Amino acid sequence: MSESTEPRNDNATFQDIGEILRSRQSFVLISHMRPDGDAIGSQLALGFALLAMGKSVRLINEDGLPESLAFLPGSERIESPPPVALDVEVAIALDTATKPRLGDAALHAASKAEIWLNIDHHISNTNYGDLNLIDATSPATGEILYDLILALELPLPAETRDAIYVAVSTDTGSFQYPSTTARTYDMAADLVRRGVDVGTINSMTYDDHPYRRLELMRSLLNTLERSSDGILAHWELREQTRRDLALRPEDSEGLIDVIRAIRGVRLAVFFEELPDGKVRVSMRSKDRALDVCRIAMEFGGGGHALAAGIRMKGPLEEAKGRVLTAIRRRIDEVCKI
Ligand code: AMP
Ligand code: MN
Ligand code: MN
Repeated sequence: MSESTEPRNDNATFQDIGEILRSRQSFVLISHMRPDGDAIGSQLALGFALLAMGKSVRLINEDGLPESLAFLPGSERIESPPPVALDVEVAIALDTATKPRLGDAALHAASKAEIWLNIDHHISNTNYGDLNLIDATSPATGEILYDLILALELPLPAETRDAIYVAVSTDTGSFQYPSTTARTYDMAADLVRRGVDVGTINSMTYDDHPYRRLELMRSLLNTLERSSDGILAHWELREQTRRDLALRPEDSEGLIDVIRAIRGVRLAVFFEELPDGKVRVSMRSKDRALDVCRIAMEFGGGGHALAAGIRMKGPLEEAKGRVLTAIRRRIDEVCKI
């Protein structure tokens, strides 16, 4: 927690946030490590609105900009954390459930901020900001920012417009997950009216993968397993494969949807050995009763009911054993046949 003089507010209104955005001059915007479209999109969306207001803005991510999101206009402004703490008044954490998920280097870069804003849609968010705007019913942080920008009548430049579209599109599996509401489609329609080039932006988001991603998929398919009742499917990526295929962290983004889509599967898991020896676990559920956030939280992870993750101690075999046991316990509780 920062040494703020502001009282902590676990339920900030748009007006509370607006007061800070208007009255302060310098900002650092941060999102979670291993950023996805909603993380980077949210940084660009709010960042370019603030830039259009004449503010000083830095956009920092622990792992820098994934190559797969470099098509977003303005994305060249996303930086890896500088070694020195930035002289900024306000730090804004976006799309990040817990403060450590921002990463040590990014937290150091933001350590001089007087006020922390925390804007997010994870149900597991720990309210680590001085002002917290958390809406777990929202399908993406990008949609919260769209509502915020409109409610406060902030500028909505082209970079913000495209970034919001991609943030929400990627977090909803192209406007398909049950978190997608009529409001989400209204928002998308409004963004298209404001000039989003739907064909181009979707092809850049979904139809422009490097060949190595397909090689990764081939390797993952070779490890695919399904439980005898057909409810659980999982696959895994070893560090050796990552090296052999010269993979980048973002190459696996979204691949778990392939096994989630198997008929009868209600829970899909992706185990990934990380270079630091830890294991990243990605989980997807098709069923709110099989709440994967709840399972992730048993291991210090978090997320949403239908999509959650863990970063845990290795080795892979051990992590896999522990997580699969917890999942099986939960499936047996929920799916008594
Ligand atoms: P992923 O499987 O990495 O796409 O993550 C699914 C959802 O869970 C996303 O909303 C993530 O932000 C969240 N999530 C993933 N890993 C973690 C973690 N270690 N702690 C908290 N939330 C996480
Ligand atoms: Mn995210
Ligand atoms: Mn998100």
